[in-house]
Amino acid sequence: MRELPIIIAGAGIAGLSAALAIARDGRRVLVLEKAPALLEAGAGIQLSPNASRHLRRWSVLERLGGAALKPRAVVIRRGRDGAVLARLPLEDAETRWGAPYLVAHRADLQQALRAAVADEPAIEVRLGVAVAGFAADQDGVAVGAKHGLIRLRFDGAALIGADGLWSEVRQRLELPGDLPPQAARRTAWRALVPTAQLPEEFAAPDVNLWLGKRAHLVHYPLCGGRCVNMVAIAEDSHDEGESADFWSGTRDPAILRRALARWHTKAHALLSAPAEWRSWRLFDRPPLEHWSVGRVTLAGDAAHPMLPFLAQGAAQAIEDAAALELALAANSDIAAGFKMYEQARTVRTARLQGASRRQGDIYHMAEPAALARDIVMRVLGARRMLARQDWIYDYRE
Ligand SMILES: Cc1cc2nc3c(=O)[nH]c(=O)nc-3n(C[C@H](O)[C@H](O)[C@H](O)COP(=O)(O)OP(=O)(O)OC[C@H]3O[C@@H](n4cnc5c(N)ncnc54)[C@H](O)[C@@H]3O)c2cc1C
Repeated sequence: MRELPIIIAGAGIAGLSAALAIARDGRRVLVLEKAPALLEAGAGIQLSPNASRHLRRWSVLERLGGAALKPRAVVIRRGRDGAVLARLPLEDAETRWGAPYLVAHRADLQQALRAAVADEPAIEVRLGVAVAGFAADQDGVAVGAKHGLIRLRFDGAALIGADGLWSEVRQRLELPGDLPPQAARRTAWRALVPTAQLPEEFAAPDVNLWLGKRAHLVHYPLCGGRCVNMVAIAEDSHDEGESADFWSGTRDPAILRRALARWHTKAHALLSAPAEWRSWRLFDRPPLEHWSVGRVTLAGDAAHPMLPFLAQGAAQAIEDAAALELALAANSDIAAGFKMYEQARTVRTARLQGASRRQGDIYHMAEPAALARDIVMRVLGARRMLARQDWIYDYRE
């Protein structure tokens, strides 16, 4: 009899990475994705060395090719006057952390992952199929799903919920003490602007981070330098959080410009460039101590969503996939493999969830705390500030 596949709910970065990693262990994988097409929002993503090392092993980096850019440095500035607080070189990332630090367009990463998945005969992807429930016992999992109005059933050896922040699989696991996502009272704004519409300095191949009161801004060139990716995160006032268009995803950027009104003119040159801004309300969720029950487990944002202040959400989803690869290779019993995977991941991802939250508080400090933060950064200098990232970027299991 043909071996049943491991079923993965969700074809985001977590689901596609897990599919690639598990198929390398010789197992069949069936990915069920509720969206009828895989379309990534027009935005960039930072791929730190702890993620790029696995993407390279899985032949995803070679497919990204020239679409990914290696920034020279992270340049940290003060929003109010544009003063450079620190410049952290990234050129020797490969020597220091054993893999490159990259920025890429999400659509290009998604395409590279899909191309790698398409080349793997052990993986099948079904689009337009939403996982709606499951029943698991010690021999396998029966997954209930919907394709439009049609109800479907898939039999699998196991189920991995890689279905994002609002995970259906996580909800149905009914894990002890689990709480739903909570609004973090912050909004992320994203836009891409053609480089030709901006002053020349914005084309420099650096990741730029501007810090201000209750807000910060990140920008870096993308698309082979033809456009600049911008992400701003601002804290919401109560009124903004309740406004009627809040959920629509396209909010008036004048709200953002007002929040950063006292920032330096250089930042405003960027913020005022004609662009279609999209916005996301941010959510946070406390860490779980356990997320595997027998033959069902979780990965990526479904398991450990984190605020984006350390740019580690997708990187941790990729690390999850690598840990699943190791755990399933070491255990022919899938439930034992999922336990081993969970043990390898819960402490690290909980630490990153906490560190991301604290980083947000540091980025958004107001005076006088902000002044102290800026002095500490200058005193520490680039070498010691980079060393503080080693636990994140130099992670190898
Ligand atoms: C502003 C911002 C900037 C960020 N920048 C970075 C960065 O620079 N670097 C980084 O590493 N991370 C970053 N992140 C985090 C990163 O985007 C996420 O952590 C990552 O995309 C999560 O991937 P995922 O596959 O777990 O979830 P998702 O991307 O949410 O994918 C889940 C998938 O599951 C599907 N799905 C949902 N329900 C079902 C169902 N019932 N059945 C079947 N399919 C289902 C969805 O359609 C979706 O395709 C950022 C996040 C934000 C908000």
